[in-house]
Amino acid sequence: MGWCRITILCLIWQHTVMVRSEDGLEDDDLTSRLRDGRLRFAGGSKGSTFKVALFADLHFGENAWSDWGPEHDLNSVKVMSTVLDIERPDFVVYLGDVVTANNFLVHNASLYWDQAISPTRARNIPWATLFGNHDDARFEWPIDWFSSSGIPQILCPSANVSGELQNEMFVLMVLDEFILNWEGLFSGGDKCVFKGTTRLELMRNEITRNTLSYTGFGPQNLWPSVSNYVLTVVSPKSDHNLPVMFMYFLDSGGGSYPGVISNIQSEWLRNKSQEVNPDSSIPEIVFWHIPSKAYEKVAKKVADGRTQCVGSMFEESVAAQDAEMGMMKLLKERPSVKAIFVGHNHGLDWCCPYEKMWLCYARHTGYGGYGTWARGARILEITDEPFSLKSWIRMENGTLHSEVVLST
Ligand SMILES: [Zn+2]
Repeated sequence: MGWCRITILCLIWQHTVMVRSEDGLEDDDLTSRLRDGRLRFAGGSKGSTFKVALFADLHFGENAWSDWGPEHDLNSVKVMSTVLDIERPDFVVYLGDVVTANNFLVHNASLYWDQAISPTRARNIPWATLFGNHDDARFEWPIDWFSSSGIPQILCPSANVSGELQNEMFVLMVLDEFILNWEGLFSGGDKCVFKGTTRLELMRNEITRNTLSYTGFGPQNLWPSVSNYVLTVVSPKSDHNLPVMFMYFLDSGGGSYPGVISNIQSEWLRNKSQEVNPDSSIPEIVFWHIPSKAYEKVAKKVADGRTQCVGSMFEESVAAQDAEMGMMKLLKERPSVKAIFVGHNHGLDWCCPYEKMWLCYARHTGYGGYGTWARGARILEITDEPFSLKSWIRMENGTLHSEVVLST
């Protein structure tokens, strides 16, 4: 093998700005939306539903120097587009590992992050994201680049072309003029520096460039965990802002720090839930990326024939957080917590009862990341009066399976 040529799938930033002006929201709308974090049922009539699609483990941006990396990203866009067009959800949750940052050759991981949210944004559907263990991971130099094959030659995005190449999705840049040789790295090739992008930078870029993003910064005292926030689904009756359900989003770590939900995050959620739902009368659901140790316990019970579950159980072992620091204890004490949803294990998509709630996996949505299990997405359907929470998996080929009621 000699030096090989690299193609980098590159998003052009301008389209996010275009979408922002098209949806007609001004800065004031953005401020009030971020302040109250409320989502309303579509339709506004009794008995209507609120539907959420979960996209887990997309792993955008892998192996940009090969053919399969960019191809995987295109396939992941197709999976999301299929699910969105069949299910037509009101909201999308990106459940972490949106990108594989340890595999990037670009300076700014938000380029790939933006590709991952583009199918949802293009359909004008609001969304929220949280972090997985790959989103801010450091670049890992492939060891074979240091053998005789050498470090591949790199095609880098160029700052002066972004205004010309606007596309609603993204643009495959394979033009010779972008070839940056190693001299280029020392003469203005800063777009090719493998710098890594922090959780704060990724989130700031998403929130400030997208009015449809409901993602929130957690308080600074929870750092290095960042994606900690609460969203409220409110009554379909337009004359009220009655909460129907609270959605809690947590950063389960990994990447630049250990894969864990800290004690201080648990205390924050204890105070927050007490503030918004003091008597635990409103149903609550919780999202994070890496399964807690309770998932391991449940899987063991299933193997012993002591628990009935729905979905794929035995394709791989549960890869849990590094430690349990009090979050599960808090959630077990709240009768209003109906279910927790995680990603991380690409081969698992089960839901199992645990104490008075359900522990659920999403479904591996992306072509990036390990494993070749068929791709799909978990769907949640919330109904008001009476409250119900139903879920199923929608596959890339359009089929549906593992339907389960999580509100009982
Ligand atoms: Zn993953």
